[in-house]
Amino acid sequence: DHYDDFDWQGLLDSIGADIAPLLTHGEVANYIPALAAVDPESFAMAFVNLRGETFTTGRASTPFSIQSISKVFALILALELEGEALWDRVGREPSGTAFNSIVQLEEDHGVPRNPLINAGAIVVTDSIVGHCGESTAIARLLAFIRKAANSLGPRIDMKVAESEEAYGDRNRALAYFMKSFGILKEDVPIALKAYFQQCAIAMSTVDLARAGLFLANGGTDPATGLELTTKTRTDRLNAIMMMCGHYDMSGDFAFSVGLPGKSGVGGGILAIIPQVGSVAVWSPRLNQAGNSLAGTQALQWFSERSQVTLF
Ligand code: GLN
Repeated sequence: DHYDDFDWQGLLDSIGADIAPLLTHGEVANYIPALAAVDPESFAMAFVNLRGETFTTGRASTPFSIQSISKVFALILALELEGEALWDRVGREPSGTAFNSIVQLEEDHGVPRNPLINAGAIVVTDSIVGHCGESTAIARLLAFIRKAANSLGPRIDMKVAESEEAYGDRNRALAYFMKSFGILKEDVPIALKAYFQQCAIAMSTVDLARAGLFLANGGTDPATGLELTTKTRTDRLNAIMMMCGHYDMSGDFAFSVGLPGKSGVGGGILAIIPQVGSVAVWSPRLNQAGNSLAGTQALQWFSERSQVTLF
């Protein structure tokens, strides 16, 4: 392709230099103590192309809490396990509301707007627990992410998981409310235990970029040849990330970055450039919607300066 000779390392170096003044802007997530403990001025970016070549800047080997980015991998696993019937209990519309919002659930009869907000992700995790059982659900998800990353680096940070559990009343409220409509099938504490551990998955920026590579290549890891999901599901997943990956700033992210992406309150963002590669960024300070502030700017520069675009 015409990116064969592109200077990705030069691009990442320029972003790493230009981002410095922004690293003091925004607030680190503080809804759980374990997340507030990170160095707020951390920054890392990693890009992996379809040839498996990796380019990085900043602290790209430092593990961080991927939080809601796990929702992408959980959705693919749940679709592999449950098939299209999953869409009977979760929608595909952008919510226009905060990640942990409950307001739409009542008029929607307990069916969350999409799988990338908390309510929808809890349904997805409930499906995985239903198919794999309580004790292996998270092991299956972690194994899937490790396979996608081609790395044993991703793990569960139990301190973060316990913190999520201790401060999880909003997620509990969402789950019981959906359960009352019959949308959630498993016992709420069991589904949520898995959800909290899923949010607590930690991995490095470079492993995260690598884990997203199959999404840039129609569902097959171009480096190992492993088929992680089908082309159709990959296309649909990218569509969902494009429309719903940044909560009530999804439109803004599409406007300024123009790529399918998913953020997490740990400050990570994964973005996919179909047929080109996968890019991950990490910087803990967040904007008002809970998306990495410097990370969003870094991705905007990444797409502007490389001219990668879906359009
Ligand atoms: N653990 C967070 C929660 O459930 C995940 C949300 C996020 O990353 N936006 O509240």
